[in-house]
Amino acid sequence: AKDNGRNCSQFFTRGIDDTLQERIGLENALHHALKQQQFQLYYQPQVDVSSNKMIGAEALIRWIHPEKGIIPPDAFIPLAEETGLIVDIGRWVLESACQQLRAWTDQGMDGFVVSVNLSALQVQQPDFVSDVCQIIKRCGIQPERLDLELTESMIMRNAEETIKTLKQLSEQGLQISIDDFGTGYSSLSYLKRFPLDKLKIDRSFVNDITNDPDDAMICRTIISMAHNLNLKVIAEGVETNEQQALMRSYGCELYQGYLFSRPVPASEIPALRERSFEV
Ligand code: C2E
Ligand code: CA
Ligand code: CA
Ligand code: CA
Repeated sequence: AKDNGRNCSQFFTRGIDDTLQERIGLENALHHALKQQQFQLYYQPQVDVSSNKMIGAEALIRWIHPEKGIIPPDAFIPLAEETGLIVDIGRWVLESACQQLRAWTDQGMDGFVVSVNLSALQVQQPDFVSDVCQIIKRCGIQPERLDLELTESMIMRNAEETIKTLKQLSEQGLQISIDDFGTGYSSLSYLKRFPLDKLKIDRSFVNDITNDPDDAMICRTIISMAHNLNLKVIAEGVETNEQQALMRSYGCELYQGYLFSRPVPASEIPALRERSFEV
């Protein structure tokens, strides 16, 4: 029995060392990736079904690893958040999205909106607002064309500070959206204190909307309350015609999901902008 105990603890120690080493390895690799410009933004169309046109796109980061290929954000964003590296990565994302928007505007894509994901730590930086304003100014883009996505849990964690920050950004004309809406615990009446433009209904609800009456009811309720509060609603993760039709019958106007398009490299966006997304 004694031996077993020792083996057991040796096993655990080695296990922890391995993970620690993996983490340190990944952390170093992330630093390197930022310096070597191995990150790239993909863009996923956001479609307005009243016109069947793409009105904007969400920027989604990818790590183009020289050996491993394309690494999705879920594999490195959490560690970047833990280590604080997300602040630098997030700044790169904003800068890069704004430069892209500038280029698209020069190509004649008027009114196009780019949505960018933010992290809690990034928003908590004391110079976050001035950073954003500087980037916008430097790229010469209209603030209304930039949409910042924050999750519900992110703003609830540090509500008073976040309200202040978002108010400043909103006064500058930027759009603010709540991502993954419905997964947190906030009430819409509470959210009314935030300067919001749009709610993004989490894809876990949209996914099951045609099978699960509870999810259908949640979507319906979010849409009607959001409209009463003068907020736009976008459904994320829309994969089927049935999901789209049901959401549409509830009054949802904006859509993002594989049904319309996967996230694509920036170079593919101008052609999609011309397309009609009739489904
Ligand atoms: P998110 O903000 O909820 O982004 C939507 C995710 O859903 C994307 O995954 C997108 O590819 C995926 N998706 C879109 N349509 C569909 C669909 O129809 N079906 C399904 N099953 N999935 C769909 P992705 O690109 O892997 O990003 C995952 C998460 O990583 C994002 O979730 C976001 O939280 C985070 N992320 C991505 N880019 C950034 C970034 O630049 N900064 C920060 N802080 N986080 C980012
Ligand atoms: Ca998002
Ligand atoms: Ca989301
Ligand atoms: Ca989600």
